[in-house]
Amino acid sequence: MSIAENLKKIKESLPKGVTLVAVSKTKKNSDILEAYNAGQRIFGENKVQELSNKYAELPKDIQWHMIGHLQSNKVKYIAPFVSLIHAVDSLKLMKEINKRAEQNNRVIDCLLQVHIASESTKFGFGINEINNTLFESEKFSNINIVGLMGMATFTDDQKKVNNEFKLLNNLFNEIKNNSIKTLSIGMSGDYKLAISNSSTMIRVGSAIFGNRK
Ligand SMILES: *Cc1c(COP(=O)(O)O)cnc(C)c1O
Repeated sequence: MSIAENLKKIKESLPKGVTLVAVSKTKKNSDILEAYNAGQRIFGENKVQELSNKYAELPKDIQWHMIGHLQSNKVKYIAPFVSLIHAVDSLKLMKEINKRAEQNNRVIDCLLQVHIASESTKFGFGINEINNTLFESEKFSNINIVGLMGMATFTDDQKKVNNEFKLLNNLFNEIKNNSIKTLSIGMSGDYKLAISNSSTMIRVGSAIFGNRK
């Protein structure tokens, strides 16, 4: 199936209130344009350099999401244009995003990444650090924490993935309010399970664009 067909099929299956981020990392501009021409406007990338290049080269009404681990020293490159940063995982990073947002006269929307997987390689705050982090974030006037993001363990064990999503959804339910409304969980392999756990934003790459090399 073509990119446009994949996109259409996924979009038709989504309940109202679930936003699709088309994860275009490693994919070429012509692939992104095919999705764009099929109506997609939100794209996600996980590398600052690639994100900056694509921003420069592609239509300006694209909303670019930074979905990957972000190093503090690279925030300055995306601060002028990024529309949502998914993986805020330290106060140091938050402070830097706030500083660069201020320099660009912007308020940048951010999600706090929560560590839910059993792999030690996945970044994020512990569940019990979130309340304090939200409290600390209030002193940063150029960032807006709009929700939580998580990545489940990379496994075929649906029960395990479901349990991890559930943990995050429970936390989300405790903290959600007028500004905290986004729960970013679900990728190509597990977005249906994520939606059944109240995901409001899914990040789907290979199911749209095909496998990455
Ligand atoms: C690559 C990536 C995705 C998309 O993965 P697929 O399995 O291709 O859908 C989602 N979220 C993050 C953080 C990623 O790095």
